[in-house]
Amino acid sequence: MNNAENISNTYKESAQVVPCWSCHGPLTAGLAFCPTCKAVQQPASVDHFIRLGLASDFDVDLTMLDKVYFELQRALHPDRFATRTAKEKMYSQAQATAINDAYETIKNPLKRADYLIHIKGVNVTPDGCNLVNDPSILMEAMEVREKLSAAETISAVDEIANNAREEIKDVIVGISLAFKGDDIEGACQLTTRLKYLTKLLDEVRQRRTQVS
Ligand SMILES: [Zn+2]
Repeated sequence: MNNAENISNTYKESAQVVPCWSCHGPLTAGLAFCPTCKAVQQPASVDHFIRLGLASDFDVDLTMLDKVYFELQRALHPDRFATRTAKEKMYSQAQATAINDAYETIKNPLKRADYLIHIKGVNVTPDGCNLVNDPSILMEAMEVREKLSAAETISAVDEIANNAREEIKDVIVGISLAFKGDDIEGACQLTTRLKYLTKLLDEVRQRRTQVS
């Protein structure tokens, strides 16, 4: 058994058990492969964390995330399914896509925070975290944009970028603490701030190409 098949060990006990389509043996919903007969499974509708065998936390071990992801992608490589049935080919492709989606979401702190708010905070923020109309952020964004368009040198632009990067670090620490304290609203506010800061960095990059 390789590690990709073995990630069932990290699943929570409460996880849903379903029968394997091939051997009918029990398997945890979300597993890409049956632990008994190794048959690839149709992707179950589970969240991104369960799909990768990770705890649903904001704090993610990124080394572990990469390890799990690359092992699964290797195990699902089309070459391995070249001589398999059409059904297994189809399932392996669908699994690879679902695992890619999960990986891209969990790897990025902003997407991860947004997603966690979506799955943990359904009662607090039914539409996920979307406070882009927060008036204080709008006001601040306007001021920073004015500053950015007035910045005529690389170093002036870089100063704005460095300030944003420093604040992003603090905001990520704050989001982590908010989730730990089950403060979904707090996480939501900080995620809105992270969204704004990430967008600001994009604008800074554009501005940097215009100055010399
Ligand atoms: Zn099986």
